[in-house]
Amino acid sequence: MAAEPASSNHDLRRFADVNAVAAGFLRDLAYAQTSESRMFGYKRAAAAVLAIDRPLTALVEPGRRLSKIPGIGPASERVIFEVLESGTSATVERAVAASDRAADIARRRTLRQHFLSRAEVVRILNDPLFGGPSLRDYQGDLQMHSEWSDGTPSLGDIASACLARGYTYAAVTDHSHGLKIAGGMSMAEAAAQHEAITGVNAEYTGRFRLIRGIEANIGADGRLDLSDDEAACFELVLAAPHSKLRRSDDQTDRMLAAVANPHVHVLAHPRGRISGSRAGVVADWDRVFAAAVRHGVAIEIDGDPSRQDLDFSLAARALAAGCVFALDSDAHAVPQLRFAETAVAHARLAEIPPERIVNCWPLERLLEWLRRPA
Ligand SMILES: [Zn+2]
Repeated sequence: MAAEPASSNHDLRRFADVNAVAAGFLRDLAYAQTSESRMFGYKRAAAAVLAIDRPLTALVEPGRRLSKIPGIGPASERVIFEVLESGTSATVERAVAASDRAADIARRRTLRQHFLSRAEVVRILNDPLFGGPSLRDYQGDLQMHSEWSDGTPSLGDIASACLARGYTYAAVTDHSHGLKIAGGMSMAEAAAQHEAITGVNAEYTGRFRLIRGIEANIGADGRLDLSDDEAACFELVLAAPHSKLRRSDDQTDRMLAAVANPHVHVLAHPRGRISGSRAGVVADWDRVFAAAVRHGVAIEIDGDPSRQDLDFSLAARALAAGCVFALDSDAHAVPQLRFAETAVAHARLAEIPPERIVNCWPLERLLEWLRRPA
């Protein structure tokens, strides 16, 4: 894989992410396969490499072997050793050159920029040289999905898991009714969920608070799928794009309309990019960030490993514009709550002061901001 020019200290540090590089080659090899089962095998190996907590260099054992990693077979291990020893993989390059999907693989390579592996996230969280927030500063997660839309956990599961992570609050942000494909909640379901949240909060009074949130969908014209009256039923409104994410034309007006909506608190996964798959919304982000500052809308760093949206480089521009940030997991299951750590790692790379991160504020300050976002 061609290295980008090192334009900053952070880019230099990012080159240490050997797991992301090795996983990238395994993804390339997956797409060069003609057999589906081998394609899935290499995809599984790439996912396994991205999810381990330690760099591959720390897992090398005598005799040119790797410690056993579930999901990684001998063929993937050979590729990993090529990457560890040369920074590239001759095996993968040969397979790609011989594949009739070479152009598609080249396109996918351009869509992996600024994605961190789990091992790199852990390293950044533990490196005191980075500024920005630590996990201790992080008070609660403001994007997650429950069994009320396309997630698996119950509200009780969420509350106990967040409390176990040391949070003092969390927002449940199931999808709104416009996003049928993700089991979006009707307003009647939202009302029932709010009663259930009140019940959970009564159990945890003084220790933990669930916030009544919603992830509203931004339409092609920038309007939400919630009316003003509907949006006003929620304490926290995230607005996020879920359509027209593969277009190359400018969508600045769409995003400007979303942040100008007085009910919106957070612009969530602003681009809608997916690692190795799509770049997401194309917009003049500096204009969007400036508008977000004017309207008091926070910009999200979504920590889902396949999203990482914003990433640290775009987040640094939002920081310079004067934005405040929300760092969220976008979890759809309890183990995914740790995705918030990926968002915290990007905030550390961008050196965002905790003061500028709404999840680092105490509950009362956060609630006050939610009541008067602008
Ligand atoms: Zn979403």
